[in-house]
Amino acid sequence: MAARVLDGTAVANQIRAEVAPAVAAFTARAGRPPGLGIVLVGDDPASHLYVKSKQKACDAAGIYIDDHKLPASTTQAELLALIERENADSRIHGILVQLPLPKHIDSKVVLEAVSPDKDADGFHPYNFGRLVEGHPLFEACTPKGVIKMIESTGVSIEGKRAVVLGRSNIVGKPLALMLLQRNATVTICHSKTKDLPAVCREAELLLVAIGKAKFVTSDMVREGAVVIDVGTNRLPDGKVVGDVDFGPVSQKAGWISPVPGGVGPMTIAMLLDNTVESAKRMAGML
Ligand code: NAP
Repeated sequence: MAARVLDGTAVANQIRAEVAPAVAAFTARAGRPPGLGIVLVGDDPASHLYVKSKQKACDAAGIYIDDHKLPASTTQAELLALIERENADSRIHGILVQLPLPKHIDSKVVLEAVSPDKDADGFHPYNFGRLVEGHPLFEACTPKGVIKMIESTGVSIEGKRAVVLGRSNIVGKPLALMLLQRNATVTICHSKTKDLPAVCREAELLLVAIGKAKFVTSDMVREGAVVIDVGTNRLPDGKVVGDVDFGPVSQKAGWISPVPGGVGPMTIAMLLDNTVESAKRMAGML
């Protein structure tokens, strides 16, 4: 039987519909809206597109934006000085530094300069450490979006065999920890994993974030599995596809997320959610 398609846009719209009244309630109580500082350095067209979508979503939700688009020539010292100002600005409850940064800037140093209390992207080592402990302050937006998508299917995470393909610090590792925290039995795979198809076939929840177009084929998927595709790959003809070979895999999985229209919109919805939560936490309203 064909899989049910997990419509990330619909789930994200539902979350955004819940965020908007939360923003309004916060604004009425605090006398000002939740605020997000957005920092973009350079001219990467994809980054500009992502930031535009995030800004549009914040505007629609009523979140105040402090927008900083800086030239590629910006020095690391200038960027760190801006982040210090955002850290100290009481109108700002979340800070987003769009990645990738230009090569002459050390992303690690910059991300660590963001106050852990305003780390709406959840990339600061403090928040990563809290996630390892099982008490995260902020959860990184993309993996948090994946969790919400699984939850939206009604399939329980607890006790399930979950296989995460990819171990990056921004998707694979935090996602594996979030699944573990929700009592899944988790395996993390990477480029050195032996007999990857056999490991994938064990998965009741298969979460894929490797950045290789159509890498996961139907022979790697267990009948009825929930398959979530984080991958975003642009083909030579300009088409964007995921890491999962959608057509054949959708004939075997129970649920499958498409690309585009899957995890992407969820990442933005989670950024709004994290910003509002942060505003409430800072105002003692949680
Ligand atoms: P990344 O930092 O490049 O990490 C890729 C991971 O995949 C690494 O752990 C790598 O293993 C593993 N890998 C690569 N080839 C493999 C193979 N043949 N077999 C098994 N594992 C393999 O990527 P990322 O930042 O996590 O992003 C992954 C994908 O998600 C990309 O397509 C990216 O564009 C997309 N993404 C989408 C969103 C969204 O909002 N939709 C957000 C973030 C990322 P090693 O560690 O051994 O090298």
